Amino acid sequence: MTGAAAETKVIDGVAKELYIGGAWQPASGGGTFPVLDPATGAELCSVADASPADGIAALDAAVAAQRFWAKHPPRERGEILRRSYEIITERVDDLALLMTLEMGKPLAESRGEVAYAAEFFRWFAEEAVRIDGGYAVSPNGTGRVLVTRQPVGPSILITPWNFPMAMGTRKIGPAIAAGCTSVIKPAAQTPLSMLALAGILAEAGLPDGVVNVVTTSSSGAVMEPMIRDGRARKLSFTGSTAVGRTLLQQSADQVLRTSMELGGNAPFIVFDDADLDAAVEGAMLAKLRNIGEACTAANRFYVQQGVVDEFARRMTERMESLGIGRGTEEGVTIGPLIDQAAVDKVDALVSDAVNRGATVLTGGSGLDGPGHFYRPTVLTGIPDDARMTDEEIFGPVAPISSFATEEEVLAKANDTQYGLVSYVYTTDFDRALRVCEQLEVGMVGLNQGLVSNPAAPFGGIKHSGVGREGGTVGIDEFLETKYLAVGLRE
Ligand code: NAP
Repeated sequence: MTGAAAETKVIDGVAKELYIGGAWQPASGGGTFPVLDPATGAELCSVADASPADGIAALDAAVAAQRFWAKHPPRERGEILRRSYEIITERVDDLALLMTLEMGKPLAESRGEVAYAAEFFRWFAEEAVRIDGGYAVSPNGTGRVLVTRQPVGPSILITPWNFPMAMGTRKIGPAIAAGCTSVIKPAAQTPLSMLALAGILAEAGLPDGVVNVVTTSSSGAVMEPMIRDGRARKLSFTGSTAVGRTLLQQSADQVLRTSMELGGNAPFIVFDDADLDAAVEGAMLAKLRNIGEACTAANRFYVQQGVVDEFARRMTERMESLGIGRGTEEGVTIGPLIDQAAVDKVDALVSDAVNRGATVLTGGSGLDGPGHFYRPTVLTGIPDDARMTDEEIFGPVAPISSFATEEEVLAKANDTQYGLVSYVYTTDFDRALRVCEQLEVGMVGLNQGLVSNPAAPFGGIKHSGVGREGGTVGIDEFLETKYLAVGLRE
């Protein structure tokens, strides 16, 4: 099946209601909101529009299931995740099509995200049975120190539109593995991938109430009462720094455990001694994965004076060779941005840079509708005060500046409120270590344009967030440490 028939089939295959306590149900007021195709602006379908009362009902379900789920054998928790991984893997094509329809990225990238999303379930299936503790003799020799780890409790999970499935599995996987129940709220622009995922978890045998899904067009009004309720003990959020700050404030009254995966402003640094072929390859990946709509997207290119012209020339050539269009079409590598506001923001940042003296080597404008497309763009001579040196571009725009020395580029790279990821290209090992150690970020791609890896701790510092997802520490975000002071009688 191809074309419109396949699209109808994957959309029809998703339940479009709230998933609460193991039951699909309409919003209490019967409301719905539309999901749009960003490539055409056409309505794909509509989904249930939860009210604040629905949010509390979902929290009730998570709270009710918590005690049972915490006691559920870790091996079985892991096996449910493993089965979910297998189902997702079997259905990668349908899930990828669904993702492309609601989010816009080209099908090959959606397949990549679905596989990446599934890997978090496989990884945390393995971690569920590795939750460790400790036993030690007190220093004075009379007592014993027992350390055990327990689930944090019911958790609220909020995810963005740019990676509609992977940002969910990166939270749901460790929550399930640790024995936490949850309520997850996907972004209103891309709810379908999460609804499909809820169906898969149920199919894999996840008991009722362990994961609950709430879709809403009023995220603030629905989530705040849940956060302030006090029964949820954890908030894990992926999204913008501005919303993250608000949620941290809301979490303060109940002193919630929080994990915040927020915005980025990644520098991509190329030294004269770099392998330039590899640097251009890595730059294309770091810039254009997800059409530039990624927290990890290279936002500022700093290229040493000796190679900057050649680097810019090659980037321009590569950017001009890309196919723009609906992500379902053959040969398309640049899909639409998520909405018109995103196009307008990218355009404003480009105009600002140009007005301050930057030069456009290619691109520099949006395309006429329908859909929300922006041309792959290369800019050079970016002045330090251009807004795009400080704000997430979130589009296919590569701003290139030159630098002379290591000290200069480190100062520029670190001159930002963000601290998620940096990319460094050099063949000088000493320099690599010197620079990587001084970059103020949670992750560095060294001679590599992609850092995302379920087996690695993903996360940022400064205003890019708090906590880590994935790797051996990912499950810690959903565990509390309890210590038993054991007295021994002689
Ligand atoms: P966003 O506007 O912050 O939204 C993220 C999520 O929060 C969505 O589900 C959104 O729902 C919800 N939300 C918005 N306002 C809320 C409120 N007052 N209370 C509760 N929930 C609220 O971010 P976005 O535009 O979707 O995503 C892009 C941002 O995410 C970028 O800054 C990007 O860097 C960041 N990001 C970070 C990572 C990371 O791992 N560090 C990964 C991916 C993306 P609605 O959209 O339905 O309102």
